[in-house]
Amino acid sequence: MSELPFLPFALPEIGEEEVQEVAQCLRSGWLTTGPKTRQFETDFEAMLANQLNTDQEPVSAIAVNSATAGLHLALEALGIGPGDEVIVPTHTFTATAEVVRYMGADPVFVDVLPDSLNLNPVLVEKAITPKTRMIMPVHFAGLAAPMHEIMQIAKTHGLKVVEDAAHALPTSLHDGQWIGNLGTDATVFSFYANKTMTTGEGGMLVSRNPDLIKRVKTMRLHGINRDVFDRFTSKAPSWYYEVVAPGFKYNLTDIASAIGIHQLQKAAGFQKRRQAIAQYYHRELANLPVVLPQVADADALHSWHLYVLRLADNCPIDRDTFVDQLYAQGIGCSVHYIPLHLQPYWRDTYNLRAEHFPVSQHAYERMVSIPLYSKMTDIDAERVVNAIKKALSGA
Ligand SMILES: *Cc1c(COP(=O)(O)O)cnc(C)c1O
Repeated sequence: MSELPFLPFALPEIGEEEVQEVAQCLRSGWLTTGPKTRQFETDFEAMLANQLNTDQEPVSAIAVNSATAGLHLALEALGIGPGDEVIVPTHTFTATAEVVRYMGADPVFVDVLPDSLNLNPVLVEKAITPKTRMIMPVHFAGLAAPMHEIMQIAKTHGLKVVEDAAHALPTSLHDGQWIGNLGTDATVFSFYANKTMTTGEGGMLVSRNPDLIKRVKTMRLHGINRDVFDRFTSKAPSWYYEVVAPGFKYNLTDIASAIGIHQLQKAAGFQKRRQAIAQYYHRELANLPVVLPQVADADALHSWHLYVLRLADNCPIDRDTFVDQLYAQGIGCSVHYIPLHLQPYWRDTYNLRAEHFPVSQHAYERMVSIPLYSKMTDIDAERVVNAIKKALSGA
């Protein structure tokens, strides 16, 4: 056993600025959605507006208490319902597909590309039926899905596109366009504790569609037509509100937004640090029996949320042994993801079989996500590399 402390798979990087802002929020007496959440949304809009190509409109941002909530709200606003089909990758977290079931619609699972593990556009096109209403790509690990192809397919067939961008802050395409600015129906980011920036729990939906934004704002808070902040600060009587739909309880607290305001300012720096560690891993692991994760094109930004290795077919040990050996050396790791076609609910409800998803299945059997986060030191990264080399040497 290693004498060094256990190196976790993921850790947030929270600074004194976040601590101070949360303390100030607590002392202010305003804990739920209010001025800090509005600032967080405005800052998020400004960050994306800074990356716009000149002729594009800026997007609007709506803070929610999880990415799952944001995806649910997007599908609700777009009128997805029973009888509709929504195309999702099988190689994702269950939240991507579960929101489709929330609306009574059916996810249609599609296999991924061998290099990026992103949605395969050729298979998307093949999966389209008269019931198809929407495509939901995931930017797996923080590398952009082939959005030009996906958006072209959507346009040809009259489909909506909602991006599960839980991994994609910040991520851009090869033409420099940032995820969030592409002009899809909606894009949803996650601030869950292990994501590229965090508010503990939280998410942000962005869109350029004013009708969608209006509906999401209403449904985020009980179907009430003005949010709490407006209610208590505008000139209208403070007690008056109207319920226009049976909405949800998906608003983000000011306590969470206080964290988010500072995390957002640090997001670019966090990405640089993760990218530097990813580049170090790439150099150090290059000649081992592993398949390295795909990198972004020269002009594109990879958020490097995850560094997903795959053991090569000729690797002397299997994945489970590899994971055991990393743990024995004090290194945390994970698997992203157990594909949805293997999960009992999805498998049994939709009669899914592994042989229908050969790329995802093959990748799953060999994959390991190794630690990659801004708080890691160079020494931590070196420990990971040394543990991998030792595990693969059979020592
Ligand atoms: C984390 C994650 C989600 C859900 O995010 P929450 O903010 O926890 O709801 C959705 N999709 C993917 C791909 C994720 O990794």
